[in-house]
Amino acid sequence: MKEKIEIVEGDITKQQVDAIVNAANTSLLGGGGVDGAIHRAAGPELLEETRKIGGCPTGEARVSGGYRLPAKWVIHTVGPVWRGGNRNEDELLASCYRNSLKAAVEIGAKTVAFPSISTGAYGFPLERATKIAFTETKKFLEKDDRIEKVIFVCFGKEAFNTYKKIFDQIF
Ligand code: ADP
Repeated sequence: MKEKIEIVEGDITKQQVDAIVNAANTSLLGGGGVDGAIHRAAGPELLEETRKIGGCPTGEARVSGGYRLPAKWVIHTVGPVWRGGNRNEDELLASCYRNSLKAAVEIGAKTVAFPSISTGAYGFPLERATKIAFTETKKFLEKDDRIEKVIFVCFGKEAFNTYKKIFDQIF
């Protein structure tokens, strides 16, 4: 199980994987942070496609092509906005990981890269989010062996160090 997980520091748009996950917003029309970076790197065709998809509720996931990205697909998921922790944020974030991995299996993606969903503009505390990311991924990989590699892409040293620390607690 553990061998299927990789933690890297870097830019998700550069990852050579079958699918990258986007921390999108419900409109799927692009935004700041990782969403903006993915749209810039994929090119305008991505927005054309996500416009047709027509949005995505929080906690769910939708698939598009990857266009100019090295990744063949983008799995767009919408994380919860942090509102103090009592507004179902944990469960919604867990759903993002579950539904993204489920979508990856459905399209036949064997390698998937995740950003740290909700921990930027949406304000979810990093350690708490990282525990959820690992717990859900571990549960998923235990019951479904079709995904070969999950890469957690950390944007910056702080996120990288947090991921490394929490990894040892969960796996
Ligand atoms: P959210 O709205 O879900 O919080 P953000 O894009 O604001 O989404 O932030 C999510 C995470 O993505 C943050 O940890 C941020 O540092 C990270 N991030 C921003 N740009 C990139 C990138 N190019 N590659 C990987 N992660 C990124």
